[in-house]
Amino acid sequence: MSETRHTKVLIIGSGPAGYTAGVYASRAMLEPILVQGIEPGGQLTTTTEVENWPGYSEIQGPDLMVNMEKHARDMGTEIIGDIITSLDTSARPFKAQGDSGTVYTADAVILATGARAKWLGLESEEKFKGFGVSACATCDGFFYRGQEIVVVGGGNTAVEEALFLTNFASKVTLVHRRDELRSEKILEDRLMKNEKIEPLWFHEIDEVYGSEDPKGVEGVKVRHTKTGEITDLPCKGVFIAIGHAPANELVKDVLDTHMGGYVVTKPDSTETSIPGIFAAGDLTDHKYRQAVTSAGMGCMAALEAERFLAEED
Ligand code: FAD
Ligand code: NAP
Repeated sequence: MSETRHTKVLIIGSGPAGYTAGVYASRAMLEPILVQGIEPGGQLTTTTEVENWPGYSEIQGPDLMVNMEKHARDMGTEIIGDIITSLDTSARPFKAQGDSGTVYTADAVILATGARAKWLGLESEEKFKGFGVSACATCDGFFYRGQEIVVVGGGNTAVEEALFLTNFASKVTLVHRRDELRSEKILEDRLMKNEKIEPLWFHEIDEVYGSEDPKGVEGVKVRHTKTGEITDLPCKGVFIAIGHAPANELVKDVLDTHMGGYVVTKPDSTETSIPGIFAAGDLTDHKYRQAVTSAGMGCMAALEAERFLAEED
């Protein structure tokens, strides 16, 4: 039988934004409910070392997120393993349908659904997803011990993934469509010094090819972005690291979005175009997309939700 749970503040998402919102909303005695979604802990659970979270010169991403979950729980956030499948913002209280059957009603909602990996959109990429094509080096790198691997992209994620994969691979080719990385300088330096990594500038993936039985990647065809020349690059693994898109499915038809789907918030605020709905973290941030900025926005959202509810009272 389906259950209905009412809360003053419903937090959707369990990344740095969601857990920080949980800490602040709990300390404001709002007794928040936080629904974790399909990826408890969010994107940082898919990486290894995090070196820019203040207070730690180095901490493993999954450990940091376990700490944040504990912190939110200790402060009084009720954390629920469920996925919100739809959100009705047309009337108050807002109504969120959980995949478990539970309906969550809330006086205010903090959206912290973050972002998800982007794919190239090739048919052959789709065909070999899970059979040599991956978007998570920490999850799948181990399977490529002693093999040649291709990483696609030129941002922080691609460079970190390439570096991490040298722990397993005999060689990593970083395929980038320009000859300039957009990653942090410190990461670029590490990449350039690593003898196992070879950058391939001005190239894009044209096709992933492989065997049928057993199903697996055998290589990629890469295209020179200027000359159009196609080259064959044999490899066993292809890691796509070309950025992330905001996870806006719950609200894309009701809230204003911009810059490829990021939820618009008012200047210096997490308020959205619907009073009582706040948005924080990578869902709203096309610019910084960092754990610490997401956490900061989670804090802002909880403080703004508290003020909103107090004014309503
Ligand atoms: P996310 O971490 O994206 O979490 C989103 C949450 O929303 C998830 O828990 C998900 O389950 C939940 N969710 C989504 N949809 C639903 C739904 N329908 N119902 C319920 N829940 C839902 N940043 C740094 O500062 N330092 C780093 O070293 C660093 N390394 C990174 C390495 C990698 C490989 C990646 C991919 C990112 C890295 N980042 C790093 C960026 C950082 O991870 C993000 O900026 C940050 O996690 C965003 O936090 P968030 O809370 O907005 O969302
Ligand atoms: P990103 O910074 O958006 O970089 C995406 C890269 O993929 C770019 O180099 C881009 O090329 C390339 N690309 C995009 N679409 C492509 C396509 N269709 N084909 C080929 N290449 C394509 O994404 P990200 O690296 O995932 O980083 C996302 C955010 O998380 C950033 O804010 C980043 O700082 C943060 N992050 C931080 C850390 C850290 O602090 N250590 C680690 C990981 C991620 P162009 O350069 O030509 O546009």
